[in-house]
Amino acid sequence: IDKIIRAEEEGRPFWSFEYFPPKTTAGVQNLFERMERMYNLGPEFVDITWNAGGTSSELTSELVATAQSVYGLETCMHLTCTNMQKEKIDAALKAAKACGNQNILALRGDPPRGQEKWTSCDEGFEYASDLVAYIRAQYGDYFSIGVAGYPEGHLDSKDKEEDFKWLKFKVDQGADFIVTQLFYDTTLFIDWVKECRSHGITVPIVPGIMPIQSFGGFNRMTSLCKTFVPDHIRRALEPIKEDDQAVKDYGVKLAVDMCKEIKAAGTNGFHFYTLNLEKSTRLILEGLEFVAPRENVRQLPWNPSLSKKRE
Ligand code: FAD
Repeated sequence: IDKIIRAEEEGRPFWSFEYFPPKTTAGVQNLFERMERMYNLGPEFVDITWNAGGTSSELTSELVATAQSVYGLETCMHLTCTNMQKEKIDAALKAAKACGNQNILALRGDPPRGQEKWTSCDEGFEYASDLVAYIRAQYGDYFSIGVAGYPEGHLDSKDKEEDFKWLKFKVDQGADFIVTQLFYDTTLFIDWVKECRSHGITVPIVPGIMPIQSFGGFNRMTSLCKTFVPDHIRRALEPIKEDDQAVKDYGVKLAVDMCKEIKAAGTNGFHFYTLNLEKSTRLILEGLEFVAPRENVRQLPWNPSLSKKRE
């Protein structure tokens, strides 16, 4: 992925989509159908998240294998290194390599639901940087390794300087690119990128964009991550908060405006937290004129061999 990003950074804009492993069989089937449709939106890569503690690790590996080897999408597997045994890390990396996947987003992980603190199960896996170093030691340059970045600072960090220090350390351990936590203040992101550069962090940085899908979901997510919400967003949402469609429409417009501001400041790639939903991401890409409006797009003919292979 880092090679793709570097090649595109100077040229045309690019975008990537993040999906999470659904809880039910029907959810998995729906996700496969969405991924097939969203293939036509031309993501440069897709990410599959890893459940805290590896609770759905086999499903993550299966989604990665399907996206990579059946759909031919450059795929990035998220992998956490706390709250689970090292064997799970080894099994996931082995499965990723076996299906031709070459990209890992190396993370520490949050505590599983119901637990307050993350725990290190195996010696040597306390921070994402430990996982980066481990992957490099085991696999050399085979994997392109991404890590998480926090424009507002990570909640556990005592100050900004500490955050930059450990982010740089992750890169020094062998990370090739950074994907950011969601944010809604573009100035904050743009300034943070400049600060990363002045701290000697030179790898590509891809902003994580989460379109607002519902008022409740937005409040939950921003409270959980303690995300700063600028006043203009609060003011815009207040009168429409009971109207789901108006909130979604506003979410699309806001994301388009954010991406335009970020692009004007020199960042050319965008990572969309799709929440496994298609429409808002598609409308944002249309709003940015990165893809043609749907009615004008010649859909790829349905390819039954894709579904056959998937089965
Ligand atoms: P780290 O980089 O290890 O940092 C954690 C904290 O420790 C920071 O405060 C850092 O400053 C500090 N620190 C780092 N190294 C050291 C050190 N050597 N000594 C002392 N302090 C140190 N979670 C999941 O469970 N599954 C996912 O799929 C997932 N995907 C994510 C994708 C993105 C883009 C982002 C931004 C987050 C994702 N998360 C995911 C959440 C992530 O696991 C949490 O934010 C977690 O709290 C921190 O992970 P990290 O990899 O950033 O940790």
